[in-house]
Amino acid sequence: MNAQFEHILSQVKKPARYTGGEWNSIRKDWDQTEIKTVFAFPDVYEVGMSHLGLHILYNIVNNRQDALMERVFAPWPDMAEQMREHNLPLFALESQRPIKQFDLIAFTLQYEMSFTNILYMLDLADIPLLSRDRNKDHPLVIAGGPCAFNPEPLADYIDLFAIGEGEDVINELLDLLLAEKQKRHKKDEFLRRAVEINGIYVPSLYEASYDVNGVFSGLRPTHPDVPQRITKRVIKDLDAAPFPLKPVVPITAAVHDRMMIEVFRGCTRGCRFCQAGIIYRPVREKKPETVLRQAAGLVKNTGFDEISLTSLSSSDYTPILQVIRALGKEHAGRGVNVSLPSLRADHFSMELAKEVQKVRRSSLTFAPEAGTQRLRDVINKGVTEGDLMETVGAAFKEGWQAVKLYFMIGLPTETDDDVAGIAQLARKVLKLGRQNGVSPRRLKVTASVASFIPKPHTVFQWEPQERLENLRLKQEALLSQTRERGLALNYHDADLSFIEAVFARGDRRLGSVLAKAVTLGCIFDGWSEHFDIDLWLEAFNQAGIDPAAYAYRRYNYEDPLPWDHIDAGVSKQYLILEHKRALAGTVTPDCRSGDCPGCGLCPTLEIEPFYAGGEL
Ligand code: SF4
Repeated sequence: MNAQFEHILSQVKKPARYTGGEWNSIRKDWDQTEIKTVFAFPDVYEVGMSHLGLHILYNIVNNRQDALMERVFAPWPDMAEQMREHNLPLFALESQRPIKQFDLIAFTLQYEMSFTNILYMLDLADIPLLSRDRNKDHPLVIAGGPCAFNPEPLADYIDLFAIGEGEDVINELLDLLLAEKQKRHKKDEFLRRAVEINGIYVPSLYEASYDVNGVFSGLRPTHPDVPQRITKRVIKDLDAAPFPLKPVVPITAAVHDRMMIEVFRGCTRGCRFCQAGIIYRPVREKKPETVLRQAAGLVKNTGFDEISLTSLSSSDYTPILQVIRALGKEHAGRGVNVSLPSLRADHFSMELAKEVQKVRRSSLTFAPEAGTQRLRDVINKGVTEGDLMETVGAAFKEGWQAVKLYFMIGLPTETDDDVAGIAQLARKVLKLGRQNGVSPRRLKVTASVASFIPKPHTVFQWEPQERLENLRLKQEALLSQTRERGLALNYHDADLSFIEAVFARGDRRLGSVLAKAVTLGCIFDGWSEHFDIDLWLEAFNQAGIDPAAYAYRRYNYEDPLPWDHIDAGVSKQYLILEHKRALAGTVTPDCRSGDCPGCGLCPTLEIEPFYAGGEL
């Protein structure tokens, strides 16, 4: 570490974010390795290091002889200031080399509000922001992750997007990159070849069109051999998929400072607001022996004292109880706790909760999402008030004192009664706590209320977001209805949810807004201390774009959608049918119970439907 760098580190918060050298980090011989890639997480180190996808791809690429992968995170503003002052371009942690020296920079898109950080990082790296301004002497800039299912707002900045799961496609891309590099082919030639790989979208090979009123009217390939639609990639066998048993152990406390084992991927519960439930379909479970083998490896190689069994709904993992008991037997003696991200409000979860709390008790989290049964049926949440009360009651009897409840406001068809239902349900849970003898000093019920955001590829993708002024009125109403000891209400910033909705439903014209927003100082927008709605509105104003036209637009079924060229595997007919069932308040059961409601995914991907064997 040179003196200048040491000086800079002494000037910034959490300097360990920038040093690298962690346990299990891999530093390969630069000159002996042909392909140099860097995984770029558009947020701070502590957030990025908790992202399982980073560890999975890092492991896959570094297991190749001909490639290396290093890591880079968004530097906190104090570090960026030092870097600009000392002309230090953004660097990767392992080799401390400027990322502009790498062949490929792979951004993950986990959250629309991290988009500005991508431009901020490219700027700090002294790399031209626009894809068209970069040639073969610049790194290839690619992106993947959930937000790539509507890649259009970033189309000007990203050379190619990988749609769906990355485990296989990353190797196919690197094989092509190696071959093209040896032939010294130009960037455009590489991109033309890249679209032959399933799941790859190259925005520069498509043209967007707008009608006379400036409304998006379609996107078409500019070359006959370029695919009309890009179908997501899916890993069929998770047991065989590479999994990092020696993940890099964070050098400073990460947001999730624990081992993460993905027990299954996908969810078919069918919540109609949920994008993950569509883009990660179908359900693929790992065998219990795979999970136990991976846990043993992680305990040996990381020193963490907690194993988190992750998925979209871990209590739905068929052998969950068996696995938790086996893990407890194997590792409890070493003080290793097993945790589950959140639990469904049903009796089975209580059995689970009792198992996982044997080593250390944590608060319980349930997500009823809506305050009334009518609205829970509209969103197909599949949880009744009875389920929730029975489960929470059992939890209080078992000694739990803190319960967190997730809700949303602004959902389609929502009435004031539904909003009031949120406060009523939270107060009923509080009362249940008292009735079960929880001491008033310790009893804590937290209602966390998000604002509904209509996301692409969901049943509610055609629905507008609730207007800001109405969301604020509903938040105020909830505040006044939850003034009670032991009851806490927190809600998401409605302005932030508004901008998130704009970029979730946006087209490529939003690219110009992003550049202006960064110039105005919009970075780390996911952090409340940094998010500034006035700067955003100024950026939209300067770009001559009305954000409300994106957030508040109600689409008709026949309207072209900016993300129609991305195929999540679920048919539009199925989403339309489900939307009509939602408006009728009709629920659709989870297909793991054996009845396939025909979302179209299994036939599209030639995959056997997952059958959980009986009631879920
Ligand atoms: S095709 Fe049927 S079984 Fe397969 S994921 Fe869709 S709804 Fe479930």
